[in-house]
Amino acid sequence: MIAKTKRVSDYKQLNKELPTLRYVDPEYVYINLTTNRCEEYRLDVKKGDYVKLGQILGERDGCFFKQPIYATVSGHIEDKVTKIDGTGIEVECITIRNDFQDTYDETITDRPENVIEHLTQKEMVDIVKEKALVGLGGSGFPTYIKLATEEKIDTVVINAIECEPYLSSDYRLIKDQPDEIFNGLKYIMQAVNAKQGIIAVKKTKKELIEVLENEQKRFQDLNIKIAKLGDYYPQGWEIETFKNATGIKVPIGDLPMKHGLLGFNVSTTESIYEAIKHNLPVTKRFVTVNGDGVKFPQSIRTRVGTSVKDLIKLSDGFVEDAGNIEIVIGGPMMGSSVKNDDVIITPTTTSVLVFKSVDYKEEPCVRCGSCVYSCPVDITPVSIMNAVKRNDKEAIKDLSANKCIECGLCAYVCTSKIHVTDYVRKGKSLIG
Ligand code: SF4
Ligand code: SF4
Repeated sequence: MIAKTKRVSDYKQLNKELPTLRYVDPEYVYINLTTNRCEEYRLDVKKGDYVKLGQILGERDGCFFKQPIYATVSGHIEDKVTKIDGTGIEVECITIRNDFQDTYDETITDRPENVIEHLTQKEMVDIVKEKALVGLGGSGFPTYIKLATEEKIDTVVINAIECEPYLSSDYRLIKDQPDEIFNGLKYIMQAVNAKQGIIAVKKTKKELIEVLENEQKRFQDLNIKIAKLGDYYPQGWEIETFKNATGIKVPIGDLPMKHGLLGFNVSTTESIYEAIKHNLPVTKRFVTVNGDGVKFPQSIRTRVGTSVKDLIKLSDGFVEDAGNIEIVIGGPMMGSSVKNDDVIITPTTTSVLVFKSVDYKEEPCVRCGSCVYSCPVDITPVSIMNAVKRNDKEAIKDLSANKCIECGLCAYVCTSKIHVTDYVRKGKSLIG
């Protein structure tokens, strides 16, 4: 969701390398029991219980899958509370008071490489499922479902594009943990028996290319390439990345697996490594804290369950002249505006963006067509907007609003500063 108080072209600030802070010792973590996909849950611990890092606390229950809930610190269970998650919805959470001992659950043990190299696809899928891995680029889609594909996969593409402005959590991860990313890719290729792996990165990120090419030399027995792609938005949209990295154009609506392609975000790839090598669920992640409303923008390596309030405090707080600040969780184009900072870091939280409040007045549509020319899925956002205003569901359907990937470009280019994407998103929800 594009920040409501901003004109989207204000987001043109280039990503730059941010200082990094390691903050993995919050006094409390808040582990979400529900998500936007799982409204039911079972909790196996109660107030006062002692839990270990990586211990299963219960299970979330979604419409087509169940998901274990993990402790991300060791310590004592306290009360249930309500917090906001990265999608902007209120979620029930269980509080753990950290004992700062990082006492690991007995199940968190390393697998030797000679065991890993004999794991079957099913065994790897079971590990990834048990560790509750989801797409960490923000999608939250269960990773095991992708990994369990029965299609013949030729190429695994790791998406390291991170194309939205301000974001740098994947950037930091690649710089700090290239070995884990290559090993994660190796495990994925083994699981689906892929012939080649490709890591797709922006060609302008020369320092990342250097890191990846150095690492590539250590994995010469594997067919892994680095694809250097153009620096434009939405280069990181999966279909665009596939097309430019492999030359294969996946029609909108088709599953990439049917075309021999399987894609994972770079953070997800690292989480697959941690699950298979160390039997670890996602307990930590890099989060970008950025925007003109926070005093000290930085990348923070933090614990899943940490309060966003803590991260903003560690970034020296809000700027003095911020006015009514706006907080966006995720990128400025596709993230979610949240009503306050009582938000928790979940595995899919890539960033916390804080913007000074500047109100822009929408002007009437001048029918310039810019939103139509810029739409990557070739639909007509302005017509959908008009159909939404008329509440004309038939027209919204006919205009294929459901193809919209919510990239935010139509709002970005709009001459009249209209939040066109919000209308298209509303159109999608009207037709289910
Ligand atoms: S209609 Fe959807 S896909 Fe097209 S530009 Fe707007 S947000 Fe992007
Ligand atoms: S870009 Fe804005 S002003 Fe131009 S046609 Fe689309 S909605 Fe209308």
